[in-house]
Amino acid sequence: MSAPGGRATSAPLVGREEEPTLFELSRPGRRAWSFRTGGFPDRSVDDLVPPVHRRAHPVDLPEVSERDLVAHVTRLSARQFSVDLGAYPLGSCTMKYNPKVCDAVAALPGLAGVHPAAPASTVQGWLALLVELEEALCAITGMAAATLQPAAGAAGELTGLLLMRAWHAAAGRPRSKVIIPDSAHGTNPASVTLGGYEVVTVSSDERGCVDMDALHRVLDEDVAGIMLTNPNTLGLFEEDIARIATAVHDVGGLLYYDGANLNAILGVVRPGDMGFDIVHMNLHKTFATPHGGGGPGAGPVAVAERLVPFLPGPRPVRTVDGPLGYGWHTPARSIGRVHSWHGNALVLARALAYIRVNGADGLRRVAEAAVLNANWLRRRLAGTLDVAYDRTCMHEVVFSAQRLRRDHGVRALDVGKRLLDHGFHAPTVAFPLVVEEALMVEPTETESPETLEALAAAIEAVVAEAASHPASVTAAPTATPVGRVDEARAARRLVATFDARPTPEG
Ligand SMILES: *Cc1c(COP(=O)(O)O)cnc(C)c1O
Repeated sequence: MSAPGGRATSAPLVGREEEPTLFELSRPGRRAWSFRTGGFPDRSVDDLVPPVHRRAHPVDLPEVSERDLVAHVTRLSARQFSVDLGAYPLGSCTMKYNPKVCDAVAALPGLAGVHPAAPASTVQGWLALLVELEEALCAITGMAAATLQPAAGAAGELTGLLLMRAWHAAAGRPRSKVIIPDSAHGTNPASVTLGGYEVVTVSSDERGCVDMDALHRVLDEDVAGIMLTNPNTLGLFEEDIARIATAVHDVGGLLYYDGANLNAILGVVRPGDMGFDIVHMNLHKTFATPHGGGGPGAGPVAVAERLVPFLPGPRPVRTVDGPLGYGWHTPARSIGRVHSWHGNALVLARALAYIRVNGADGLRRVAEAAVLNANWLRRRLAGTLDVAYDRTCMHEVVFSAQRLRRDHGVRALDVGKRLLDHGFHAPTVAFPLVVEEALMVEPTETESPETLEALAAAIEAVVAEAASHPASVTAAPTATPVGRVDEARAARRLVATFDARPTPEG
């Protein structure tokens, strides 16, 4: 039995009271476990672990009872907003509700308990799962094959750019530039630079799409490719995509599709049919793994036929000969590994569960509902906030709080903070960069009409308050466990270690 708890736990779950760290809760001798010491063969740990492998000094870990540990974690869990708690309209990040059946699948002992080094002959089921997922993702994107290794969207981007580089190098004409639109997600230019290319920015036109004249001005034989998102980061469909694809292919470049958010197009249109050669997907946004807070992700990269020989290896494949159905294979001109072992495998298992549970028709309904919900909000709030680009949007809509700032000194950030007091997570603020005081709302397909109406009403209330009592909006949030933090200081003076003694600065 574990030792009884030591902390008085009468405090309410959520208040402004600071939650102590486990180190502060620590009392010598308390344990969250206990092992029987009697009734076993007479050998102690000292006998089992040779002295050479033992620490000279015990490591300084917190000592808490199981009761206090559970209370601590439960209190922490109640202090944060989550997709399980309510609407999380964080544009460009798809924070939707994820069905619990996908977690149940990922927790199956036959999947969760397997060592990644297990020989192929003993993990045929896992290999079948990976191959089936790859085939499903290729069917969804219209591509020939995919690597499941990359651990995140940004890792997928870098993988895609390395594939682009390998392809041009193999053709004997290395190139130096990659084009990205000015509305792009911040990881795009970062990945281009990390991939060894120079970033060339192309501007958006007044409809929020790639400016075709600007594109033609920067296209030449030194362009390795273009990175696009469609719908783009303004939530708008690039109507000229076929012309863009032809223009880029005409100079020998490749088209890269940032498919971090596939919510708008699932089962409706495929990047492969739009002319894209390389596509990454964020399984942790579109396909049922909750994300945020740095949790595990997966950013598979799917490619057109001509890029398949360069994919990272080893890849799970159907074996043509031999007694086993599945095995591993490294393509002839592989760029090498981009992740240890086989990627974040349990995220991959969740994604396949999500795809299987929805089926092709269900995935299409996901996209239809995501787009419908965003357009409903766009129309519902048109008289409340300015819509950055007043045309039919896809799965997200960008509003601007520029007028609130000019008339009342209330910024998009303040609106987002005040929404927390109304029980909604903030939308994405100050992004995309091409819209002043942007509020980017992605309602997702999982929210009900009642929730959407409540969100719209909350935004209306905050905008009205911005005019009547701007100070209450700029002081928000007030109903959350943590108030407004000094974000600049937090970013510049990162304190990543814990010291119980007060610092001179306090
Ligand atoms: C989230 C996102 C990314 C980056 O994905 P990570 O998994 O966070 O690395 C890239 N592009 C777009 C458009 C995104 O929304």
